[in-house]
Amino acid sequence: MANLLWLQGGACSGNTMSFLNAEEPTVPELVVDFGINILWHPSIGLEIGDQVTDLMNDIKAGKTQLDILVFEGSIIQGPNGTGTMNYFAERPMMDWVRELSEVAGFVVAIGDCATWGGIPAVPPNPSESTGLQFHKKAKGGLLGSNYKSKGGLPVINIPGCPAHPDWVTQILVAISTGRIGDVLIDDYHRPKTFFTDFVQTGCPNAISFAQKVDGHFGKRGGCLFYEVGCRGPMTRASCNRILWNRQSSKTRANHPCLGCTEPGFPHHDLKKGSVLKTMKHLGFLPKDVPTGVSKFGYYTRAGFEKVLGGLERVTGTMQEHFETSK
Ligand code: SF4
Ligand code: SF4
Repeated sequence: MANLLWLQGGACSGNTMSFLNAEEPTVPELVVDFGINILWHPSIGLEIGDQVTDLMNDIKAGKTQLDILVFEGSIIQGPNGTGTMNYFAERPMMDWVRELSEVAGFVVAIGDCATWGGIPAVPPNPSESTGLQFHKKAKGGLLGSNYKSKGGLPVINIPGCPAHPDWVTQILVAISTGRIGDVLIDDYHRPKTFFTDFVQTGCPNAISFAQKVDGHFGKRGGCLFYEVGCRGPMTRASCNRILWNRQSSKTRANHPCLGCTEPGFPHHDLKKGSVLKTMKHLGFLPKDVPTGVSKFGYYTRAGFEKVLGGLERVTGTMQEHFETSK
């Protein structure tokens, strides 16, 4: 049995909504099959008011064991570092998180806001938001770069806006079954099993990417990199391997990837593209090429592929024309 407490800071509850839609395994399966005892959750917990305060005080005092602390939403430190903008159970939420993290077996940050500050931490950041152990790309956050939970791990980050539900439930299973030590994490504390490949892995438009065939919102065929700034080639996430709702993904539905699992999200540098202004990679000298590829090599190869792709399409159309006119 693993006791889990879920708290929310500067959040929209999107990660809770995602979590409740998990399929492999589902939330009821976490409880029934994997022995997770949800002590309290802000949306599904039955306790209110003093009952929640008492529970958290009991955890702090060691009367109730806390195996997993899950945090969703940014850590709000405003105004002026007091944290009183986010008061919870008679204290700033950030104080609860700091103290509960000291006694928790493992701490899991869910979604971009909890991992790196997310949307609330975009400058000018009026709520002084940050993440649990990162502030955007920099280590630190609320708990500091050296923090380790009682289980010996730093905060396990499951980013996304929201995080994919099965990434969340599968990591909770790894903790509850004692296998979290086998889960490797990357430099941003993301489990490598979900965040090693780029979103482009498994994207049906990958051939169009190589051939530089432009695609458009919602229209099948063509890659969304060139005209609408898809961030699939520079975003590590398994969205095209572990499909959303076991059905699809943004790029499969011909919507560009917004890069929501990277600490720079939401990209707010208007010169490099943002969620409000997408990057165009053609039409002028592009500044970005996919990660790990030389600019010269990329454009030389892409040029050849585009010519070959064009020839293939012309040949295909001519063949179709001859066959229908037979
Ligand atoms: S649509 Fe995006 S993820 Fe798919 S191939 Fe193009 S750039 Fe890559
Ligand atoms: S496709 Fe990109 S923006 Fe969409 S959920 Fe995956 S990583 Fe996030």
